Amino acid sequence: ASKPNDLNAFWMPFTANRQFKQAPRMFVSAKDMHYTTDDGREVLDATSGLWCVNAGHCRPKITEAIQRQAAELDYAPAFQMGHPIAFEFASKLAAIAPQGMDHVFYTNSGSESVETALKIALAYHRAKGDGSRFRLIGRERGYHGVNFGGISVGGIVANRKMFGTLLTGVDHLPHTHLPEHNSFTRGEPETGEDLADALERIVTLHDASTIAAVIVEPVAGSTGVLIPPKGYLKRLRNICDKHGILLIFDEVITGFGRLGTPFAADYFDVIPDIMTTAKGVTNGVIPMGAVFVKKEIHDAFMKGPEHLIEFFHGYTYSGNPIACAAGIATLETYQEEGLLTRGAELAHYWEDALHSLKDARHVIDIRNIGLVGAIELEPMAGQPTKRAFTAFLKAFEEGVLIRTTGDIIALSPPLIVEHEQIDRIVDCIRSVLAEID
Ligand code: PMP
Repeated sequence: ASKPNDLNAFWMPFTANRQFKQAPRMFVSAKDMHYTTDDGREVLDATSGLWCVNAGHCRPKITEAIQRQAAELDYAPAFQMGHPIAFEFASKLAAIAPQGMDHVFYTNSGSESVETALKIALAYHRAKGDGSRFRLIGRERGYHGVNFGGISVGGIVANRKMFGTLLTGVDHLPHTHLPEHNSFTRGEPETGEDLADALERIVTLHDASTIAAVIVEPVAGSTGVLIPPKGYLKRLRNICDKHGILLIFDEVITGFGRLGTPFAADYFDVIPDIMTTAKGVTNGVIPMGAVFVKKEIHDAFMKGPEHLIEFFHGYTYSGNPIACAAGIATLETYQEEGLLTRGAELAHYWEDALHSLKDARHVIDIRNIGLVGAIELEPMAGQPTKRAFTAFLKAFEEGVLIRTTGDIIALSPPLIVEHEQIDRIVDCIRSVLAEID
């Protein structure tokens, strides 16, 4: 395969990223745990693409379902009409959802799921006659996509500072990373749930009657796999309940087996009011997201035909038949192969493998939960992110795809990963870290 001649034009639609322009890494095919590059090399995927290909790449069952559906019913509007497969998929999703979260709004991405969830939260309070609840609370280092709502509640200042005011009435909880508890420990930090009490302070500051919802990633993924202290999410739930605030879990990464349970809500035994998903919902193969809500919240948002005159919500591609077919085949694959809980079976092996890097060069912290891992490196003096990015480049040369965020290596292999492949990922990281400055 040849590379496009004009890389500037080629990369324009993507986020500006100089390193990629300098050395584009092109994938031309994929199978199960591996990508193949345009120069014919196999690369072991330790990141499930972008945290999404949970069942591995190019699974025939999913590919065939897409082909069949595309030939049979390619598109149908989601308004005033429909098609059975959208209902079938929604009921299958509801069957694996945390208890009571049995209503699904379809979207086309994680970012759209977040925008939808925030709208639902605000509309819920208004439908209940409580229009004064307009504030949304996110968390430092939370990532909720790239759209206006998501960057407003998100905790990454760089992503929002050039866009001015954005959503007003947003505040943020402190982030949940407690290095002194996390460093090289096994499993979750035991203490620190009182971090959630920061919500009480925010409530006092703004008054509960102005706060609509709190949105958190149960485990912050993109910003470096920040695992909350044990009990943190339960305490957050209790505080929200006490003050009539809705709790939104952004499960775009943690959904669909990543933590060894269908959803993080199951792992932490905390049921949110609204739950956003995307990525793994179709194994990353077709753009799709799904927002799960309780019936009461669904009904308030939709409120009946007379209310529909006043507002409108929905996307042209909501519940697209091909996406739904991909989703059903994905869900069946997860279920037939036990992938929604495989992360739990592999968690110990994964943890031991990652923690064998304790004495590897440059490593200052190791975190893991389910089939997610983070290896935090000591930043190079004066050149933050350089060390991790160099590790990424070297690992790629050695045939392993890792992901870095800041000076953190983030790992999230497909849930079909085998022990030998875990060993290969860890051995590669160890040798790469030994080589780099
Ligand atoms: N929320 C979370 C927690 C995410 O990790 C992401 C993507 N990494 C998003 C939202 C946005 O999803 P998308 O890129 O599909 O818009």
